[in-house]
Formats: sequence, structure tokens, C-alpha cells
Amino acid sequence: MPDFTAHDHPALAVGCPTCGKAPDEWCCGANGQPSRDLHKARQAEADRQFIDQHGYGAAIIPAASGWLIDPQGCARD
Ligand SMILES: [Zn+2]
Repeated sequence: MPDFTAHDHPALAVGCPTCGKAPDEWCCGANGQPSRDLHKARQAEADRQFIDQHGYGAAIIPAASGWLIDPQGCARD
């Protein structure tokens, strides 16, 4: 099960369907250089797995120590 709090960016918990990078490896562009942003498909896949794991009401929030899962994060807004 991906751990969304263990990486520099939560979406790094899953592999990228667009460029094929493994979990924890940053996305790369067509030129083989690291891209500035993670691919949209990877972020969508991370969202899907995050909701599977934590439910629709949960959110992931930046904290001083990294990332925290807030189980009610979306429900409060
Ligand atoms: Zn990618």
C-alpha cells in the first residue's frame, strides 16, 4: 500500500503511468531530464489510491515534519 506521507511530494507514493517512473522517482520529460511538475496522470492515480486508502473525506496537508493525513480534512471545508 502506498505511503503518501513518506515522500517529498505525496504523488511520489505511486508510479507514473505517463513516463513509467517508479514510486519515489521524479517524473521525466521526453528529453530524459526531470520535469518541473509531476505528470497529471500520476497525480490522478495518487488521488485515486489515496481515496481508496483513506476515504473521500481525507486530505493530505503539509506539516513541518513532512506530510500529515487529516481524516476529516475535506469534510470541514
Ligand atoms: Zn511521469
